[in-house]
Amino acid sequence: MVGKVGVVGAGQMGHGVAQVCAVNGMSVVLVDVQQSALNQATALIEQHLDRLAERGVVDQSTSTAAKKAIVTTTDFAEIADCEVVVETAAEDEEIKRKVFARIAEHLNEEAWIGTNTSSISITRLATASDRPDRFIGMHFMNPAPAMKLVEVIRGLQTSEETFEKCTAFAASLHKTVAVAEDFPAFIVNRILAPMINEAVYTLYEGVGSVTGIDNAMKLGANHPLGPLELADFIGLDTCLAIMQVLYNDLADSKYRPCPLLVKYVEAGWLGRKTGRGFYDYSSGAPVPTR
Ligand code: NAD
Repeated sequence: MVGKVGVVGAGQMGHGVAQVCAVNGMSVVLVDVQQSALNQATALIEQHLDRLAERGVVDQSTSTAAKKAIVTTTDFAEIADCEVVVETAAEDEEIKRKVFARIAEHLNEEAWIGTNTSSISITRLATASDRPDRFIGMHFMNPAPAMKLVEVIRGLQTSEETFEKCTAFAASLHKTVAVAEDFPAFIVNRILAPMINEAVYTLYEGVGSVTGIDNAMKLGANHPLGPLELADFIGLDTCLAIMQVLYNDLADSKYRPCPLLVKYVEAGWLGRKTGRGFYDYSSGAPVPTR
C-alpha cells in the first residue's frame, strides 16, 4: 500500500483526489502554484470531511486524521519522498509539461507519476517527464471522492510494473478501474465531451433554451444532470480543451468546438468555479443565462 502521495494542482480535481487518499490512510502533499487555490482546497476538504462524519459515512476519527494527513504547499521540494505523484493541474499541455519538469527536479527516482488528464496523449505527455516508463494516465472522475471509476491509460512507454502499481493504488482507494487505450479523450470523455458540445450547439442554434435542453435530457434520457449543468460543473475551459484535443488529434471536423463554448471561455464564464457559465450562480440558486 502507498504511504505518501503527492497531488500537484489543487483545483476541483486535486482537492478531491487528496481527500480520497487521506481518507484511505495515506499522507498527502498537495501542491499548487497559487496559495489561494491551496486555501480554497483546504476549506473544501474540511467542509466535505465534516459532512461525511456528520452523515456517518466516515467515523469522526477518520475524518480528523484525514484532515491532519494533508499538507499543502507551493514548494515542489516537498514531494521528494512521495511514492506516487498524481498530476491534476489545468488541462493545458504547456502547463502540464512545465509541471512534469518541476516534478523531475525533486521527485525520488523510484516513484511513478499518474496524470489526471482528461484527453491529452499519455505517450506525448510521458516525453515531458524524466521517467516515461513510470508514467501513466490515471483519470479520476469529478467529484473524485464520490465517483467510483478511475480510467487507467498506458502510454507506449509505460512499464507493466507501473500499470500494476497504478491499478493496485486505485483499488486501495476503493475505485473500479476501466482500462482505456491511449486515444484522444480515452473512453469517458470521447463520448461525454462531444455530447456536451452538441448540447451547446443545440443552444447556439436556438433549438432549445438552457433549461429546455437540460430538462429534455434529464427527463427524456434519464440523465441525472442536464448536459449544460454538467458542463458548468466540469468547467467550460476543461470542456473546450477536451474538444480541441479531439478535433486536433483525430483531425475530424465532427469534433469542432461550438463557437458559443469558445465565447463563454473567452468571457471567463467557466461555470461553477467562476460563478457563471450556462447558469449564473451568484445569487445561490442557478439562474439560466439564455
Ligand atoms: P481547475 O482549473 O479546477 O484546477 C487546476 C489547478 O491547477 C489550479 O488550482 C491551478 O492553480 C493549478 N495549476 C496551474 N498551473 C500549475 C502549475 N504549474 N503547478 C501546479 N499547479 C498548477 O481544474 P480541474 O477541473 O481540477 O482539472 C485538473 C485536471 O483534471 C485537468 O487535467 C482536467 O482535464 C482533469 N479532470 C477534470 C475533471 C472535471 O470535471 N473538472 C474531471 C476529470 C479530470
